[in-house]
Amino acid sequence: MPHLSTDVLVIGAGGAGMYAAIAAAQEGASVLLLDKGQIGRGGATIMAQMTVAVALGEQEPDSIALHLEDTLKAGRGLCNGELSALLCEDGPKRIREMEEWGTRWARENGHIKQEMAPGHSVKRCCYVDFLNTGPAVAATLRRKVSEIPAIRRLSNLAAVDILVSEGRARGAIALNFVDGELVAIQSKAVILAAGGLTKLYERNSASANMGGEAYALALWAGAELIDMEFVQFFPIGHLAPRLVGMDPIMWDPFRYKLGGKMLNGKFEEFIDRYGSTDFGKYNATRDIAAYAILKEVEAGRGTLHGGAYLDFRHIPEAQLRGAFGPVIDRLLANGIDLTKTPVEVGPMAHYHMGGIRVDVNMQTRVAGLYAAGEAVGGANGANRLSGNAITEAFVFGARAGSAAAESVTRARSEWNDQLADEALRRLKSFGRDSEANRIAPIALQAELQKVMWEQAGPFRTGEKLMAALMRIDEMRKKDLPRLRVGAARQFNLDLQDAFELRAMLATAGAVVRSALARTESRGAHQREDFPAPDDTFLKNQVLELKDGEIESRWLPPVRVARSSINDG
Ligand SMILES: Cc1cc2nc3c(=O)[nH]c(=O)nc-3n(C[C@H](O)[C@H](O)[C@H](O)COP(=O)(O)OP(=O)(O)OC[C@H]3O[C@@H](n4cnc5c(N)ncnc54)[C@H](O)[C@@H]3O)c2cc1C
Repeated sequence: MPHLSTDVLVIGAGGAGMYAAIAAAQEGASVLLLDKGQIGRGGATIMAQMTVAVALGEQEPDSIALHLEDTLKAGRGLCNGELSALLCEDGPKRIREMEEWGTRWARENGHIKQEMAPGHSVKRCCYVDFLNTGPAVAATLRRKVSEIPAIRRLSNLAAVDILVSEGRARGAIALNFVDGELVAIQSKAVILAAGGLTKLYERNSASANMGGEAYALALWAGAELIDMEFVQFFPIGHLAPRLVGMDPIMWDPFRYKLGGKMLNGKFEEFIDRYGSTDFGKYNATRDIAAYAILKEVEAGRGTLHGGAYLDFRHIPEAQLRGAFGPVIDRLLANGIDLTKTPVEVGPMAHYHMGGIRVDVNMQTRVAGLYAAGEAVGGANGANRLSGNAITEAFVFGARAGSAAAESVTRARSEWNDQLADEALRRLKSFGRDSEANRIAPIALQAELQKVMWEQAGPFRTGEKLMAALMRIDEMRKKDLPRLRVGAARQFNLDLQDAFELRAMLATAGAVVRSALARTESRGAHQREDFPAPDDTFLKNQVLELKDGEIESRWLPPVRVARSSINDG
């Protein structure tokens, strides 16, 4: 004990974690970068095929102040202005740095190409190409990380507990997926970069690793969460036919660009039933599109997979090819011929605006514990602009890495054998202590996803949320101790699922409690029983754990003075 030791431990190796590791190593720290999947291939970053929003002003005049203004507007009054300003200010530096490290941003006439996206005032979203932005940036960061000897990389290791003594993070306990052993890791600082929570929902655009573990680890360690009710649901995510190796949220730009028709299961256009006259333009806003699809399904007029059809058959093939470019061939390889078949689409959980509460150095209230990327809450308030999430991953990753490295020069590494020993003993018995245990962890995960989708999904009511909360609490207290994980050591998937479920339940409880308390509709949080915004709720909801239960309080949002914006 400890089994591994480092200056900075980075948990999660997506865009934020890899950036953090590089920044920490550049400041002279030794870094251990671990991921429950493969380094740089496990989370959302590699799945994001679209665009990155930054005020480069390469194609038309833009400014950091304007990007910030758009971000704050989209956030419906709830952004932490200091974090939003950091995102907008440092975004351009990170994009140019990524280019120096090898990312080939698409260019036109020598300038980085930037596209328009909903909510942005100008063409601001850069990309590599429409199929490869995420994979390309992940590849750049993987290469960079592998070139730095001070960064040790460990795949297939899931953090399951943060070790805290005397108010300071001292390391973590991780589960080694390969041999089922728990590993004690000593560090002077810990960065939580384990991504978002959309796997909590039955319908999601997420990778299998996005079970919201960062939030649970932070809560258990004594840090706070903020605005957990704000889960972004994408209105027309792909449901069917099966789509392999493509972004499930790719349809929106094509719907706008080409006028994809939305039809219900009876092949009728339906958007006019919900207050939009979309016909001929097919540009109903995202919230109306999501609401209309779910209501048609509720009325028994959904498609086979419980969504709506998106139909491009009225558009000539040449025009389709012109707009979709190489995407058309990828679709054909998936057996989808848009000239012959409509696809099925519907709302799905896509991103989380809430998260771990941090200051501008990504420091939580626990000394030595930092967060980065989608795990952080606050920069995007109640709703996120498209393209801001990758920027957030890079910017917050870089900031967390350098701040954590700087802090370790001041921190003494005080390892507490007893603390680690107790944690190991407690966690070792999890799921293994009774022959009578009967519940398969994966079955409970599936039930949780269904509960979250049906009762805490895109359109919520107090009644449904209360039912969800009661079931989640019951799962946490009664079912979790009765999980069946078996005695197998190597690649024991039940054991992995059980630990993941333990965190998923903590995070789901935080989302539902927050959603219950916000009795208004704002941004991504829509309450059918409180359909309008209520400005007495122009405040952030902060959660912490007290005696094992979540407590919340309200705080006014952090504002930023425009005069303090560094416009480069
Ligand atoms: C399909 C899709 C498309 C998207 N498109 C865009 C887009 O076009 N533009 C945009 O700006 N944003 C987009 N987003 C959002 C954006 O990709 C994410 O917000 C961003 O990449 C998050 O980066 P991250 O590093 O914080 O998390 P991730 O990239 O998700 O990385 C988190 C890592 O943590 C690991 N992990 C999780 N739990 C543990 C644990 N307990 N222990 C160890 N490791 C753990 C995971 O395996 C994963 O590798 C998209 C998201 C999805 C899902």
